[in-house]
Amino acid sequence: MTGRPEELAARLEEVRTRIAAACAGAGREPGSVTLVAVTKTHPASDVRVLAGLGVGEVAENREQEARPKHAECADLGLRWRFVGQLQTNKAAAVAGFADVVESVDRQRLVAALARAAERRGRALEVLLQVALDPPGAPGRGGAAPEDVPALAEAVAGEPALVLGGLMAVAPRGADPAPAFAVLAGVHARLLREHPSARVLSAGMSGDLEQAVAAGATHVRIGSALLGNRPALR
Ligand SMILES: *Cc1c(COP(=O)(O)O)cnc(C)c1O
Repeated sequence: MTGRPEELAARLEEVRTRIAAACAGAGREPGSVTLVAVTKTHPASDVRVLAGLGVGEVAENREQEARPKHAECADLGLRWRFVGQLQTNKAAAVAGFADVVESVDRQRLVAALARAAERRGRALEVLLQVALDPPGAPGRGGAAPEDVPALAEAVAGEPALVLGGLMAVAPRGADPAPAFAVLAGVHARLLREHPSARVLSAGMSGDLEQAVAAGATHVRIGSALLGNRPALR
């Protein structure tokens, strides 16, 4: 019987192989894509194993779950990314542990995160989440592409925030390639005004190849790396 560390090592190897092949297929440098492990619903012990295997970035989507996990793993030197829908009243708690908030999609959240980052006395990197679902689809968060320029200006106007770039989730059950092409266009326009906003966080277990082909700099991998998630409590 093999244990959890062996399982995670094997899965990580597979994911790294997929990323390398996707980079090769897209004519990109193998080091140009950062693997982010989405550890939501999985225990801190898994985070510890992944850190030991060289994973440097982890993502969580619920503040109540992420805060204690971060505290348990504080010795590991990881970068913590928040990728879940975020209520304004949770912004301060998230800014307390996150190095990057990827799910920023409205002005009020920009302001709340800026105040929280000011109070903690450390700059907070934010990504603007772009909605790629057709208009009217049930919401999973994200700003409409046409709202991105104004949101970017709002972030740029906050000294406590650093505009890292964009994040998106492909529409469910559709070919991700056209959606990622839209995202790449939004990113190209953002870069004209904000040349340092280079991060493009796109691609999950099922579509990392299409995301890398569209220029993703960060892929957020949950189930391919950690196995199926236990049902949400
Ligand atoms: C859960 C989640 C992921 C990872 O999804 P998998 O399909 O399990 O790889 C990526 N991004 C966000 C925003 C998530 O909530």
